[in-house]
Amino acid sequence: MKHVVVDLLTDDLVSALKVPHPWFIDEISKSEGTCHISLERHPLPYLCPNCGVESPVYDRRKKIWRHTNVLNMQVILQATLPRVSCASCDNIRLIDVVWARKGAHNTIMFELWVMRALKCQSLNMEKLARNIGGIYRNSISNISRHYDPLLDRNEGFKKEFSNLWLDSQTFIPIDPCSILSSNIVEKLRSFSYRNY
Ligand SMILES: [Zn+2]
Repeated sequence: MKHVVVDLLTDDLVSALKVPHPWFIDEISKSEGTCHISLERHPLPYLCPNCGVESPVYDRRKKIWRHTNVLNMQVILQATLPRVSCASCDNIRLIDVVWARKGAHNTIMFELWVMRALKCQSLNMEKLARNIGGIYRNSISNISRHYDPLLDRNEGFKKEFSNLWLDSQTFIPIDPCSILSSNIVEKLRSFSYRNY
């Protein structure tokens, strides 16, 4: 029976994450209340994140991102990202991933969930960090520093944000449809990179 439960959870995770092509889930493992999801990428050419020119891999860096919890388990995504050497820019750059902001240690959905909790629950950052677990007050502060100006100045983002919902458990993804390629993530990306 235990294996059946684990398999069902794995199937649910695979379908809920909707990892965008060319990425896919390579492995899911669980330990001490944490679910580790390894992402792999189909061997397609890489584009320079700055100019879009196809570029060779220079080296690779292992990255991890905190994601929204599932069944009270912390979820950690991990992937090895290449830095590409762009002849056009004459520079070496880490490729972008669609599920996280550049340089962020959390997925966009996790950050939105934190922001929603911050706004809805009237908790200070210290207490929210304690409730969430595995995150420092400073991380919440950094997240808030990024999204607060968007909420203040961008009506489109504010409207999308207000439509997000928090499950009664509050430790479940805020978007029931998807946690990576959802509408809000797509819109946020466009707001972040074009209008802000
Ligand atoms: Zn370039």
